[in-house]
Amino acid sequence: KSDDDEVPDKSNIQIYLRIRPVSEPSECIQIVDDENHVRFDVPRKLNQGLVNNQKEAHHFTFNSLFSASSTQEEVFDGVARDLVLQSLDGINGTIFAYGQTGSGKTFTITGGPQRYADRGIIPRAIALMFHSIAERTDTEYKVHVSYLEIFNEAGYDLLDQEREVRLLEDLQRIHILEDEDAVIHTRNLSMRRADTEEDALNLLFLGDTNRTISETPMNMASSRSHCVFTLYLEGRKTGEEVVRRSKLNLVDLAGSERVAKTQINGTILKEAKYINLSLHYLEQVIIALQRSMGQARLHIPYRNSMMTTVLRDSLGGNCRTVMIANINGASAQLEESISTCRFAQRVA
Ligand code: ADP
Ligand code: MG
Repeated sequence: KSDDDEVPDKSNIQIYLRIRPVSEPSECIQIVDDENHVRFDVPRKLNQGLVNNQKEAHHFTFNSLFSASSTQEEVFDGVARDLVLQSLDGINGTIFAYGQTGSGKTFTITGGPQRYADRGIIPRAIALMFHSIAERTDTEYKVHVSYLEIFNEAGYDLLDQEREVRLLEDLQRIHILEDEDAVIHTRNLSMRRADTEEDALNLLFLGDTNRTISETPMNMASSRSHCVFTLYLEGRKTGEEVVRRSKLNLVDLAGSERVAKTQINGTILKEAKYINLSLHYLEQVIIALQRSMGQARLHIPYRNSMMTTVLRDSLGGNCRTVMIANINGASAQLEESISTCRFAQRVA
């Protein structure tokens, strides 16, 4: 597959690029040619025996592209609004943020801490969901929230009030069970009821607080864990018995960067291996889903990792999946940015 393969637009899987702003605009190396295409001009290395100043262009195409000046509102409207509205009609959806540490994944999914306008996809999805629920007077909805952290293939409950104690005693493990009907059950993951937008925001805040207090400057675990915030909806039309269930998963993936050889020590190496493997398995699942579209049932390798197992009923089929590839526009990050774009292109 070449770098510049077209992204099909009829797919249930959509791939976007978001470029985060850099402090020194002169350092930018990517060129946004139009709405959905980016080009990187990479200087050829002298040791390749080539003339200085020669550049090699890498092209990547996305469903759509958000530049450094795109706002949180534009990103939400472009990638998430439809999925939130469809979740009210019973359709499952998942949004992933992929990219190296510092590329803007958490900013995209959760938001920045300072300005109200910097709210990310989760608080905006919550607001739109409760707003729409209030408007749909013919249906009674119940909303639940869970917030799962996956670190080295073990699951932790970010909404657990006793989290610190349990982390110390290593009693926190979440178990995943699959019943005869291939339905996935997670044991020890709290499902908290949210009756209002404020309830749901408070749960997000609790989870994010829990996520940061288990971090120390020496062990910045949150960049090496995957976080899955899930909104569960149950809708029942007035006068009807049938309850329609759906889920919306908002996923802040672990940093995709390659660990520098100089940094390698036992723990980091082990964590990096888990991350590389789980991102690789996610890639395999998405590629298998893309291939199986409109075809007879193809084997989808969900079981290889915890994340793909948990998200099994929210990926593929009638579900909507969005992948946001986040890159840092600085020239120093060029290699990682191209590697992120390559990932995005492979799953497109
Ligand atoms: P990641 O989660 O991928 O490690 P972060 O979301 O934490 O990256 O982003 C790194 C830093 O850059 C944070 O301080 C964040 O607030 C800031 N940042 C990221 N994206 C943007 C953006 N689009 N606009 C403004 N600041 C951003
Ligand atoms: Mg982050």
